[in-house]
Amino acid sequence: MGWQREQDKRLREFIKIIYHHHPYYHALMKKKGLKPEDFKKTSDLIKLPITYKKDVLKDPKKFVLQPKKDELKKTLGFKQKIKGLVNPGAIREQLSMEYQPTTFFSTSGRTGVPTPVFLTNYDLDKLKEYGVSDFINFAFRNAGIKKRVAQNTFPFAPHLAFWFSYIVARHLPKTFFYSFGTGRTELQADMIEKFKINILTGMPFYLKHLSEVAKDKEIKSRVKLVLLGGEGVPEGMKERIKNNLKSIGPEPVVKMTYASSEMKSVLMECAPSSGYHTHPELHYWEVVDKESLEPIGCDRPGVLVFSHLDSRGTVLLRYYTGDYVHKGITNKTCPHCGSKKPRITSDIERLVDMDKGLTSKKIKGNLVSLKTIDEVLSKFKKLKQYRVVITKKDPKDKLSMDELIIEAGIDKRVKNIKRVIQGIKNKFKAYTDITPIVKKVPSKEIYKKVMNTMKGVRVIDKRPT
Ligand SMILES: [Zn+2]
Repeated sequence: MGWQREQDKRLREFIKIIYHHHPYYHALMKKKGLKPEDFKKTSDLIKLPITYKKDVLKDPKKFVLQPKKDELKKTLGFKQKIKGLVNPGAIREQLSMEYQPTTFFSTSGRTGVPTPVFLTNYDLDKLKEYGVSDFINFAFRNAGIKKRVAQNTFPFAPHLAFWFSYIVARHLPKTFFYSFGTGRTELQADMIEKFKINILTGMPFYLKHLSEVAKDKEIKSRVKLVLLGGEGVPEGMKERIKNNLKSIGPEPVVKMTYASSEMKSVLMECAPSSGYHTHPELHYWEVVDKESLEPIGCDRPGVLVFSHLDSRGTVLLRYYTGDYVHKGITNKTCPHCGSKKPRITSDIERLVDMDKGLTSKKIKGNLVSLKTIDEVLSKFKKLKQYRVVITKKDPKDKLSMDELIIEAGIDKRVKNIKRVIQGIKNKFKAYTDITPIVKKVPSKEIYKKVMNTMKGVRVIDKRPT
């Protein structure tokens, strides 16, 4: 735990800023009779309850650092105070750049309610600084690419993935980079050949589609590296992307990223399944038990919870990600790249109800993860597209039975549709103990619905809370 002392020190400094300038945590700490001195170590953060997305949604502005003039004096460093005496104008400008939000990102989430996360120039600088070094040290590592030509297919939206790629790419050496969003897929496939693209970035759902179109068009691919983000990726989907591209060019390396708007940061793999290299300077990670929510030590399975240690704009402490990590966080030196930063192991499942806290995370009494749903359904080669809707028998009645509907976009060439539908039902039941309702829906229609959410949301929870 080489980072512990450094993180403790950062927390001691940051908690003062939070106490004086953060409306939500100030009120919470007052209510609990806590002062900045009560947080000497990161382990003291347990004195605060877990923060859920629903808490932020109630009043997102309350989670933004908003220093008032009088309060500001209490958190200025010695050098800043001196500078303020000599040149008050300059310090005012500097503080305004540091604290004034300049943009926001939002997560559409599975329930479709976006949570805005505000960033200041301070945050954008961090995003750039860590992003540039992570791309070079981790993402591009061993990809065998000298001159990088990247096609970015993350959607044009206030999402972290798109802006992160754009902001960082401007500062990467020997890199030609352009963004196409999602859509105009035929043209995008042609561009892969024409521009001799060797790096593709995007959401797994879209890149699967694009790689299929490219394969059908028989373009010549030179893609050596695929960087996926924005959603959890089932192994089956990763394989399909890899195989589609391999059939028209070299076999690409597929690496994953782990990020959320709330984190204001992107964590990367340096090799497939190496684990995500964290930024211990920016976040303190905990693994908590999924039922009791007690911290259970890093290297055990549980739900990921993080606290910002160096951030402006929206600041979160003990934020519940809803992401379940099977092997926890490892502090061992990375066997691939030698990095000593802790790594969140690559096997992450997103619990379906992350947006709703813990009130209704079960479907028919079973805990179902997005990953299981994806793993099961992506195995059906005859299933071109799918979408899962979790609802109630009577959608207005909270207490009526849960229902799980699979919209199945079955390959047009399939003659015995009934058999495919029965196969899906059986397999799904075998893995999850839930018998789904399977409806045949045209693939194109499902694709449109899924991409409409801008995030490739394949599972929608429509149950009333
Ligand atoms: Zn590594």
